[in-house]
Amino acid sequence: MKLILATSNNGKIREINDLFSKTGVDFISLRDCGELPPLVEDGNTFKENAFKKAITVFKATGINVVSEDSGLEVFALNGAPGIFSARFAGEGAGDRENNEKLLNMLKKVPEEERGARFVSLFCLIIDGHASYFEGDVKGRIIHSPAGQSGFGYDPLFVPEGYDKTFAQLGGEIKNRISHRAVALDKLKKFLLSP
Ligand code: IMP
Repeated sequence: MKLILATSNNGKIREINDLFSKTGVDFISLRDCGELPPLVEDGNTFKENAFKKAITVFKATGINVVSEDSGLEVFALNGAPGIFSARFAGEGAGDRENNEKLLNMLKKVPEEERGARFVSLFCLIIDGHASYFEGDVKGRIIHSPAGQSGFGYDPLFVPEGYDKTFAQLGGEIKNRISHRAVALDKLKKFLLSP
């Protein structure tokens, strides 16, 4: 089965390909789709954003497509950065700036109030019909970055039941327990069910 993977985030592409290896699902990169309209993320929820990206690509190509919107919700910040996770420190800001901004906002927040969760919302469009698959992973935000692997807020996020960040735990553990792994497991079951 061929599906366009409507993201240009290399970290996500790597993780999704790992999680789907040997399943018979072939992901086509956006880079191989020619000229496309811009994928605008101006919705108010992960679900709206995922749908907008997927339907834009489906309408432009006529090929079935899967897209994801994801982010980090910090409970002490009423769910911020949420849908703004990628551009928390401003349009064009990188992971380092986003992490710095988050740590600054949490400077005075004590250990027991640093709870957070990553959310992943996939939208699958097959023949124009949308289905959604959601996953999350709860944890906490530490006080300074630790670890090298992964992307985004991985160096700041310690998942529940562990004492290391996603960036320290590495891909193998992250891909078993992450928000994306949970959502993709649901998507995989749906795609591979007879
Ligand atoms: P999206 O491309 O709009 O879905 O952006 C998601 C943003 O949320 C990323 O750029 C990261 O900042 C953050 N994010 C989502 N998933 C992860 C993850 O697995 N690890 C670290 N950060 C993530």
